[in-house]
Amino acid sequence: MKTLKKLLLYRYGITVAILLIITTLILYMFTPSILKDWPILMGSLVFILAAILIVSLRIQRVISSDLEEMGNALESLVLKKKLEAMPLPQLGELFDFAQNLETIAIRIRENYHMLEMEKERLETILASIETGILALDSDGKVNLINPAGERVLGVTRDYALGKTLTEIHPATAIDQAVEEAREGKGVSLEIDIFTPRKRTLSVRANPIIMEDGNIIGVICVLDDITPTRRLERIRRDFIVNVSHELRTPVSNIRALTEALQSGAIEEKERAQRFIADLDKESQRLANIIDDLLTLSRLESEEITLEEELVSASEIVSEAVVEKAALAEKYGVKLFLRNPEADITFYGNASMVKTAISNLLDNAIKYNREGGKVEVNIEELGGELLINISDTGTGIPKKDLNRIFERFYRVDKARSRDTGGTGLGLSIVKHVVEFHGGQISVKSREGEGSTFTISLPTPT
Ligand code: ADP
Repeated sequence: MKTLKKLLLYRYGITVAILLIITTLILYMFTPSILKDWPILMGSLVFILAAILIVSLRIQRVISSDLEEMGNALESLVLKKKLEAMPLPQLGELFDFAQNLETIAIRIRENYHMLEMEKERLETILASIETGILALDSDGKVNLINPAGERVLGVTRDYALGKTLTEIHPATAIDQAVEEAREGKGVSLEIDIFTPRKRTLSVRANPIIMEDGNIIGVICVLDDITPTRRLERIRRDFIVNVSHELRTPVSNIRALTEALQSGAIEEKERAQRFIADLDKESQRLANIIDDLLTLSRLESEEITLEEELVSASEIVSEAVVEKAALAEKYGVKLFLRNPEADITFYGNASMVKTAISNLLDNAIKYNREGGKVEVNIEELGGELLINISDTGTGIPKKDLNRIFERFYRVDKARSRDTGGTGLGLSIVKHVVEFHGGQISVKSREGEGSTFTISLPTPT
């Protein structure tokens, strides 16, 4: 504004000087004698000059105040949205200019508003994406990071903005990917990071290339693939375990068959023993396959929870009766403490009965000759509790939280001898959790164990 004032003053000065010279010349041309009265002439000229100067200064002040007002109005119109229209200037000649300015300001405001909406939309989209997204400028400094990116790298947006990746995270592999992308290469890799905690990340870094081939930055996409990789590992381990479990009875069956074929069939006593072993091994195979099928049905969500009101005492009594022969075979006494308890729950009766049978099997098979198994059902604080206690081998402390894993066995030989598959407790856990309940265990080595199923009861 100061420069404008100077410019206007300068122009007015020149105009006034030219006007004075022209006026003097005209006066001289028409009345040359006027020069004789030069004091009057000079007085008049000074008067005219002063008048012109005052008028010019006034106009100049009006113009600068008009322009200043229009400048402020422009700011209000575009940014602060406090004004709807441009105020009319004091100088009539500036009306058109003010109106043009108003049209331009309204357009800019509309565009500005659209840009703001676009920005908000982009931020909402970026916030709802579960993939970490980072944008870096041509200097490799972060100028955008979404909430998923903050979570994956364990940094806040305020901290990350304006910094390079080296400054915000110790994983050099991400930094290298970004550097390569800055040179124009698209990079895709998988890395393990340890900050803020151990994770496996899929990193994709791509350059942002303008039409003229200029690289103006990098987009880095970070996907946390830890759960996917963990699942893949579990699946791989499971296949290895299943193959291993199946291989043992299959090789035993093959060995027994070969022995029979190469003569043992002729010796009655040996043949009978081998055939009994064959039966045992094939039974083991059948058990493993049955348990695997049950587990897979439980996991595939093929089974839906029937809203059937089940009497807990009824299914527990049935399971206890069915295990009487097994208990006798192992020389173990089986007691149901309160068969008359009238407790119900909503769920799948046959699934829960399978779970109770599995626990009873273990309590009997991992018991000692002359030992006992006690089953107790009760309702406590809105929960049905089914306790199965035995006086058996007990489970070492270090194994307690692993026995529910598939194929985990404390004593492998004993489990195989008793026809165990290593899947019984996994099935129990699945069934119980499927019903919204929990399974827990307390055990002392050499003294025995108590498994407790807790299920929610109807309110
Ligand atoms: P298994 O078919 O081998 O019995 P489970 O999944 O039912 O498989 O049990 C896993 C392991 O937990 C068993 O091999 C056994 O070592 C241990 N276990 C389970 N129940 C008992 C129990 N009542 N007493 C002692 N050990 C038990």
